[in-house]
This record gives sequence, C-alpha cells and structure tokens, in this order.
Amino acid sequence: KDEYVAFIEALTSAERVIMKDFETRDLFQACQPAEEVARKGIDAIRFGAMKPVGLTDPRTGRRPWAAVQLRAENRDCTAYNLVGFQTNLTFPEQKRVFRMIPGLEHAEFSRFGVMHRNTFIDSPHLLDKTMRIPGTKVRFAGQIAGTEGYTEAIASGLLAALNTFADLSSRDYLELPNTSVLGCLIDYATDPAVEDYQPMHVNFGIMPPLEDGRRRSKRDRYAAYSQRGKDALERVIRDRGDLFDRNAL
Ligand SMILES: Cc1cc2nc3c(=O)[nH]c(=O)nc-3n(C[C@H](O)[C@H](O)[C@H](O)COP(=O)(O)OP(=O)(O)OC[C@H]3O[C@@H](n4cnc5c(N)ncnc54)[C@H](O)[C@@H]3O)c2cc1C
Repeated sequence: KDEYVAFIEALTSAERVIMKDFETRDLFQACQPAEEVARKGIDAIRFGAMKPVGLTDPRTGRRPWAAVQLRAENRDCTAYNLVGFQTNLTFPEQKRVFRMIPGLEHAEFSRFGVMHRNTFIDSPHLLDKTMRIPGTKVRFAGQIAGTEGYTEAIASGLLAALNTFADLSSRDYLELPNTSVLGCLIDYATDPAVEDYQPMHVNFGIMPPLEDGRRRSKRDRYAAYSQRGKDALERVIRDRGDLFDRNAL
C-alpha cells in the first residue's frame, strides 16, 4: 500500500506535456492517461489498470494492493508494455515514475508513451446513413468517421463497403435498424441533430429505449436490448439476400 500511495503521488505530481488542466477536457474518456485517472482519487487506478483482483502474492498468500500487467511486445518476450498506461508525462518523468513500480527499478525504456491525436470528421453533418458524402461515391468509416474501437471500425467499414457495392451494382442501400448495436451507433454518427460530435464506442446508453416501457433490472434490460438487436439484424440479413447471400451475388 505504501509503495502504491507513493507511486500515485509521484504520478499525479509529475511533469506533464499538457500543462494546463483545461487542456485535459478534450481527452477521450475510454483512453485516459494513467495520471488523469489517478488524479480522480487515490484508489481510482486500483479499480482500473492496476486492479489486483484474481491475483495472489506468493510471498504473503494475499491479494496485492495493486498490480500492473506487462504484455509482451515481441515473440521473444524481450520487451513489454504496461497495459492501460497511456501517459502524457514528459519522457524523463516517465522513467523516474514508472521505475518506482517494484520490479521495474532497472527497466530500460525502448519506447515512451505519447499522446495520440484522434482525427475525425464531423460525420453527423457530412455523412448519410450509408456513410457516404451525399452526392458523391466517397464513404468514410472507422476511426476517421468517429465510430471508435476495433469492432466498430470493422463493422462500419463493412457497412460502407456493402453500400459501395450496392452503389456500383444498382442495388438498394443497406441501412441498419437502429435497434441493433451497430445501427444505433451509425444513427448517432450520422444524425445531423448531434452537436459537438465526439468519437463513440457502441454502448447501451445510445440504444433507443425498449418499446414496452416495462421496468427491468439492468441485466434484464441489457438482455432485452440484445435480443431485440439480434432479431432486427437477422431480419435485415434475411431480407437483403441480394447483399448477404453468396449464391445471389
Ligand atoms: C492507444 C490506443 C489504444 C486503443 N485501445 C483500444 C481498445 O482497447 N479497444 C478498441 O476497441 N479500440 C481501441 N483503440 C481504438 C482503435 O484502435 C481504433 O478505433 C481502430 O483501430 C480504428 O481503425 P481504423 O481502421 O478506422 O483506423 P486505423 O487503425 O487508424 O487505420 C488507419 C490506417 O490508415 C493509414 N493511413 C493514414 N493516412 C494514410 C494515407 N494518407 N495513405 C495511406 N494510408 C494511410 C494508417 O497508417 C493506418 O494504418 C485504441 C486506440 C489507441 C490509439
């Protein structure tokens, strides 16, 4: 615990590349630098990147106060990254602070953490629901369209590709039902009423409410959202055999 507290104090007081607090307001919630998470409270990072749940310290037989996960960067396991430690500290400070982690006192740094800039277009005011700039055959998908995340990028890329195919082969466009998880993300990303658009992962918060208005536990609500989305998507896939059925192509 003492080591953890000292580490958090060093992490939160270290010199950052972004110097002013107001500059942190544009940071993407799901990719917060470790020091920003740590600033939320002494235990914040112990419930995130440094969560010790499921681990037993062989020296004490007890759960450690906090832990970091090292993920191999190469097949030979000669380099590791600190999972969940996006950071905005200056390079000398990264060396000083991360070497405070027990076991990393003598770590060599082959690459420092840097902030990445997320460049995206104002999709709600530029794209239609097929991911196209109206009046052109140009489509955007993935990160640059603000549909953020691995799966979201693949899925929105597929939607854009299918619609490009529809364009080239004079088929009807494919629009996804907004009750499906990707459909509601696309809906959000292409809704001109959205102001100050920011990249978004799929999440239950943007799903349209369940029609029956019944009160449910969170678990049951999410299960109902999932079932509704699955049914809607299966219907679309069935109805659009001209796009999804290999034999019809
Ligand atoms: C640090 C970090 C952590 C992340 N963690 C997660 C995570 O845990 N889970 C998750 O779901 N998502 C995560 N993401 C987000 C996820 O990586 C992206 O949303 C996703 O990879 C976007 O895919 P994309 O194909 O749209 O774009 P990218 O993967 O960015 O691909 C764009 C490609 O275009 C290339 N390119 C750019 N300009 C040109 C040009 N002019 N000519 C030719 N090629 C060009 C680039 O080199 C790049 O290869 C993370 C992102 C970052 C930066």
